[in-house]
Amino acid sequence: MSNDDHFHDECGIFGVFNHRDASALSALGLHALQHRGQEAAGIVSYDEHQFHSERRLGLVGDAFTREEVINRLKGSQAIGHVRYATSGDTVLRNVQPLFAELALGGMAIAHNGNLTNAFTLKKELVRKGAIFQSTSDTETIIHLVANQADSTLADRLMGALARVEGAFSLLALTDEAMIGVRDPLGVRPLSLGKLDDAYVLASETCAFDIIGAEFVRDIEPGEMVVITQHNIASHRPFGPNKPSRFCVFEYVYFARPDSVMASHSVYEARKNIGKELAREAPADVDMVVPVPDSGVPASIGFAEESGVRFELGIIRNHYVGRTFIEPSDQIRHFGVKLKHNANSIKLKGKKIVLVDDSIVRGTTSMKIVEMVREAGASEVHLRIASPPTTNSCFYGVDTPEREKLLASRYSITEMAKLIGVDSLAFISIDGLYRAMGETSRHNDQPQFCDACFTGDYPTALSDIEGGAMDQQSLLTESR
Ligand code: AMP
Repeated sequence: MSNDDHFHDECGIFGVFNHRDASALSALGLHALQHRGQEAAGIVSYDEHQFHSERRLGLVGDAFTREEVINRLKGSQAIGHVRYATSGDTVLRNVQPLFAELALGGMAIAHNGNLTNAFTLKKELVRKGAIFQSTSDTETIIHLVANQADSTLADRLMGALARVEGAFSLLALTDEAMIGVRDPLGVRPLSLGKLDDAYVLASETCAFDIIGAEFVRDIEPGEMVVITQHNIASHRPFGPNKPSRFCVFEYVYFARPDSVMASHSVYEARKNIGKELAREAPADVDMVVPVPDSGVPASIGFAEESGVRFELGIIRNHYVGRTFIEPSDQIRHFGVKLKHNANSIKLKGKKIVLVDDSIVRGTTSMKIVEMVREAGASEVHLRIASPPTTNSCFYGVDTPEREKLLASRYSITEMAKLIGVDSLAFISIDGLYRAMGETSRHNDQPQFCDACFTGDYPTALSDIEGGAMDQQSLLTESR
């Protein structure tokens, strides 16, 4: 993790068009998406006369449940954003939605994803006189919109997006429309819902449930929907459909298990991964123990498939956030103990298999294994419900630089030794695809973006390839 004040787009987005409680509903929707970003939140609304913007550091519930804040966000149109935690200083000017007064009126933008040519574009724009207010790649889109000449803001946004590369699910709010767009490969999610006469757009369907909205459909890869008082129109700004490359890591870890993405229940996907893992790498043990909460659905699948009983051998304290929130390696280390405690009575003298979703730096696994051994487990086997994470994500999932990924430096045998387990296995890449209902990964045209496991990046990485930025800077600068 970086020590910077730059923008990291591991985020959640939510918008409501045509509801008198648009801002309050947005606050609720963002609360349901809080797992996608805990560092900051913002809502921009429009009341037929003017835009209103409130952006705060911290959790949605801390600022946006206060009546006076919601009362300031007048209007029946609103979009909102939650932003993932980074370390170091955080500047409010980077918190989204970003808002700008443009030639054709005001425009607010909320972005989930990461552009891989933002730095290259930014250099060009600054050379031509653009003055950037933030270090966010999203601001690049606003400057590109400002430079277009089409007759509506929606058309200008299409022109601007034709120039960007990478992953983007975007919401935009203008004085006449709410716009939702997914990048041509649909790397990040975006779904459409309906609540009475209002349309709702959200990163995940769990945000519809909280406000009682019904799920209508996913926005398709490469689709732009423009919602106005009169209708909802679908456009294809990037030309004919390309095969989707939806992020498989959303299923592995990132999304909430009660969400449905591209017709797959995230919970069922995780359970299937656990079953597949049990078939690929069984363990002769007394019990299956999940690393809560991220390992729970996969553990249930593992236990079901292997016929070994499932036990909560580790108890999670729910009053701490995700471990990654902690700024330094040292505190993150300590953070594992803040979050988990061994259920010693269950573990003493038992052979166990621990199931977790992924290993990033390895800190969590090392501490958890030490903890269950101290609690008396006689054998500890570890099964991971994703292939080894060997590559950084440049599309909006917050991963550290490649060198900090345990699996990029060590073999599985070496990792088992470092973590201190009797055996270690990861699901294979084909096993992951099988769990997702495919027969195998189509190596010439993979069905998902799995770059973090394979290094097969589905878009150009122009900022790196063109030399405008090295890998580490792209991770820390342009998100
Ligand atoms: P580590 O201790 O660095 O190996 O972290 C591994 C744990 O962090 C996993 O078991 C997940 O629960 C969680 N995790 C994995 N990827 C991410 C991510 N991109 N952001 C936040 N947490 C993550």
